[in-house]
Amino acid sequence: MEQYREEQLRGIARECQEFEHVINAMGYGYSLLNVSPENYVRRCNDCIHWAGGSCKIFLDEISQWR
Ligand code: SF4
Repeated sequence: MEQYREEQLRGIARECQEFEHVINAMGYGYSLLNVSPENYVRRCNDCIHWAGGSCKIFLDEISQWR
């Protein structure tokens, strides 16, 4: 799998409307993350749509990154 830089994983997730954290999706709620949803760091690889790097939104965004 291609490795992405932290700034890319964060930068795209920060702008993304579809982000949902994997832990939240499991039903535990954002309290388990010990931070409010507004404050914790969003990263694409913590998102339910990440799917091992095959998220279409991510791939579209990363193709415009460079
Ligand atoms: S993995 Fe996909 S849906 Fe999730 S935040 Fe990144 S671009 Fe958005």
